[in-house]
This record gives sequence, C-alpha cells and structure tokens, in this order.
Amino acid sequence: MPDTKQEHGDSHGVRDKFIESAIKGKILANQCTNCGQYMLETVYFCEKCGKNSFKSVELDGIGTVVTYTILSVAPEGFEDAGSYAWVVFKLSDKPIRASGFLSNIATSADLPLGSKVMVTGYDEKHGLLLKKSD
Ligand SMILES: [Zn+2]
Repeated sequence: MPDTKQEHGDSHGVRDKFIESAIKGKILANQCTNCGQYMLETVYFCEKCGKNSFKSVELDGIGTVVTYTILSVAPEGFEDAGSYAWVVFKLSDKPIRASGFLSNIATSADLPLGSKVMVTGYDEKHGLLLKKSD
C-alpha cells in the first residue's frame, strides 16, 4: 500500500496542484532543468544528475499497467464500489511511473498487464483514481 501522506509530503501547494491536475486527467511532474529528466513531483533531487532545480510539467494521465495488487478489502471510503486494485502504471508520454486505484477489478483476468489506464480524479485519502481506457 502506498503511503500518500508521505508521498505528498510537506508542501500543501504542490499537493493541491497535483490534485487539480489529476481532476483534469493529468499528472503533475517535475522536469530537471539541468538534464531534462522527468520525475514525479514528490522527488526532491534529480534521479539522474542529483540537482534539485525543477520545473513543473503537466503530462497526460494515460499509461499502461506495470504491476498491481488486487485488494481483498476495499480501501476505507470505497466500500460501496466493489473490488479494487492498486495499480502501478507507466505513463505513455514520459518514462515515469505512478500509482493509483482502479475499481471493479476482482481477478487478474480483469486487468492484464499492459492494459491502458487513465487518471480520472483524486481521492483525498488514497491518491489517484484510475479507469481502464480503450
Ligand atoms: Zn537532472
């Protein structure tokens, strides 16, 4: 399980912007101004060159499923909507991985690896909300 409190850290401004982007179906990311590497906005030092100078970029929240875990118990607040998977997906746009929740996934047959997913919103407690695309 991801710890969204930790992931979204101490800056409310960044978190609010991330949520605004998610509601529009986008992922807010950072691009290193030194080497151009793309990272999640929660990374404080460039994974490639170690610098900490970034600019914000909005990427399309569309990607393919890399791995996922089917949750036998729905996360708190999601009880009414059936079974959920916690999904790690790779953005189609850029080499960034993000994670979120996808509803109505009961067995692995419901979600083959490589399936397309898209960001549809953000849950305060749990993070990104996804749906299957195509
Ligand atoms: Zn860099």
